[in-house]
Amino acid sequence: ILDVRGLHKSFGTLAVLKGIDFRLRERELAFVIGPSGSGKSTFLRCCNRLEEPTSGSIHVDGTDILAPGVDINAVRRRIGMVFQSFNLYPHMTALGNVTLALRLASRKSKAEALEIGRAALARVGLAHKAQAHPGELSGGQQQRVAIARALALEPKIVLFDEPTSALDPELVGSVLQVMRDLRETGMTMLVVSHELQFARAAADRVVFMEDGVIVEQGPPEQVFGAPQQARTRAFVARID
Ligand code: ATP
Ligand code: MG
Repeated sequence: ILDVRGLHKSFGTLAVLKGIDFRLRERELAFVIGPSGSGKSTFLRCCNRLEEPTSGSIHVDGTDILAPGVDINAVRRRIGMVFQSFNLYPHMTALGNVTLALRLASRKSKAEALEIGRAALARVGLAHKAQAHPGELSGGQQQRVAIARALALEPKIVLFDEPTSALDPELVGSVLQVMRDLRETGMTMLVVSHELQFARAAADRVVFMEDGVIVEQGPPEQVFGAPQQARTRAFVARID
């Protein structure tokens, strides 16, 4: 469903991505792990064109999302993104945050947007918090609202960039549970995370990035249990 080939990204003279080849299958939950500064966020951001790649190709469902004239908003509807900082509007309710994105991105009527927004909040277990403002929600609940906002657009793929890094440890579990539930419903997800234990338990595939390249990828049993590369071995040694 996602097909990335020869992806390069430089900021000025700094080469950050140095040839990424990556394919994500429908319904797959893949984790990207790797040291700080290795290019994980840049890779995700290229996948929904928050960054413009320097070269390479990215296809989603067979559509070239880097083609000239492509509708970036349509790309972003198909590829949702959830960030470390939830970026909710503080003066709007949870439901308001979810439906605003929907109305801006897809021109739904107010009634339709409310219905879809309520359903999205229900999917993350927050139907009862629809009228709460972000300030009245825990960090974990705020992040689940941000996930609902992404889901409301009915994306083909959701990208998560360290969705639990800003949370107190006791709030991490509820967000991870939502990601597990989404996996059950067949959502395709690509997640950058430092939650190596979770990646090990939940991922279909783990991708280890270092210094702008994918060093190794495979099922979690391989990447964590029997890494083929010395650099992967050194990185995952931290988990035990
Ligand atoms: P972390 O685990 O700390 O989030 P990361 O793997 O996500 O790290 P990136 O955020 O992709 O790493 O950054 C990779 C490199 O690209 C870093 O050296 C960073 O300073 C650089 N970089 C990222 N964004 C920009 C930008 N907009 N302009 C210039 N350099 C950038
Ligand atoms: Mg990052």
